[in-house]
Amino acid sequence: MSLLTLVLATILAQEKAPEDRLPSPDWYSWADFAAGSSVTMEIEIDGKKAKKTTVVREKDAARMKFEEVVEANGARQAAREQVVTKPRGNPGVYDSLPEGECPACKKPRKDHKQPVSTESEQKMKVGPAEVDCHVSELSTFDCEGKLREWTRWTNSRDVPGHLVRHEYKSKKLEYKIVCVGFEKK
Ligand SMILES: [Zn+2]
Repeated sequence: MSLLTLVLATILAQEKAPEDRLPSPDWYSWADFAAGSSVTMEIEIDGKKAKKTTVVREKDAARMKFEEVVEANGARQAAREQVVTKPRGNPGVYDSLPEGECPACKKPRKDHKQPVSTESEQKMKVGPAEVDCHVSELSTFDCEGKLREWTRWTNSRDVPGHLVRHEYKSKKLEYKIVCVGFEKK
């Protein structure tokens, strides 16, 4: 790796502050939890740590109001309010077959190594609690078929916001988001 590549890689990895990678609440993963429920997530990137606690302050059939408190670089930031309204559609993910040519190498997209995903169930500890989790892993590949990105999502219906763990790895960046505690109401 040349010095320039190394510098570029470092800049790319630092582009986003660690705390900005911590998830913000969305409707469906919080829909089953009443006001007062909370979750605390931690992240570490290159030795820099950040932590976010998200609490449901108000809730009705169409709207949830959250408060988020972030601690980064050892300092606690001012609490932020976040309002999430119920989306019109239902939750769902739809797979699509790759079509056309790849903008990077001009070969047909369908000739590229396709993403590989796995799903499994397991139990995991979050603070003192043990929760049932759904784990999904996804690997994507570059034009040469080498690993580009690997992600693992560990979710639990027992945890407000559902996220228990999120791990990410690419050539440039590696991080892990961990739920360290929650309160269910
Ligand atoms: Zn390509």
